[in-house]
Amino acid sequence: MYQTNTKFKRFNIVLRLLKILVFCLINTAIFVDVSCQSAPLKNNITEMNNENFDVQKTDGEWKSQLSDFEYEVLRNKATERPYTSEYETFWDEGIYVCKGCGAELFESKTKFDAGCGWPSFYQSIDKKAVKEILDTSHGMVRTEVVCAKCGGHLGHVFNDGYGQPTGLRYCINGISLGFKKKEK
Ligand SMILES: [Zn+2]
Repeated sequence: MYQTNTKFKRFNIVLRLLKILVFCLINTAIFVDVSCQSAPLKNNITEMNNENFDVQKTDGEWKSQLSDFEYEVLRNKATERPYTSEYETFWDEGIYVCKGCGAELFESKTKFDAGCGWPSFYQSIDKKAVKEILDTSHGMVRTEVVCAKCGGHLGHVFNDGYGQPTGLRYCINGISLGFKKKEK
C-alpha cells in the first residue's frame, strides 16, 4: 500500500511538471508570435553590404570615433539593455540624429512611449533616412533598421505600434542616437 501511494505521488508530481512545461511552452509561443511580428520590408536591401552607404570608414576609424559600446551597437549590431537609454523617457522637441554620421533620422513628434524599454518612433524623418534589412539572427525573422548614410545599426521595426498613425514601432537603441534640440 505504501509503495503504491509513493508511486501515485511520483506520478502526480511528474504529471504536474508536464502541465507546467506545456503551459510555459504555449505562453512562450504566444509571446514570440505577438512580440516579434516583423514589419514588411519597404525600401529593403536584402543583405548588409557596406558598399551601399555614402559614409565609408575603416573599423579603426569607427573605433577611434565611437566609444566601445557605441561601436558594438552601431557597427556590430549589439543591443543596449532595455530602460537604460537617456532617451527612453526623454520628450524634448527636436531631431534625433545618427551617432555615427550625424544624419537626421527621427523627429521628436513621432516618438511615443511603447513601454518596451527603448526609444520608439512610429516613422523615420524621411523614408530615405533609414534602410530596412531582413534579419534572421537569434532564431527570429525581424526587420533591422540601419542609417541609410553610414549603415550604422539602429534597431528593428515592428508591426505593433498600436494606436500610432503608421501602426509601426521603430524600436531604436538610444546609444545609436544623438539629439538636436529644436531652436526657438
Ligand atoms: Zn549614420
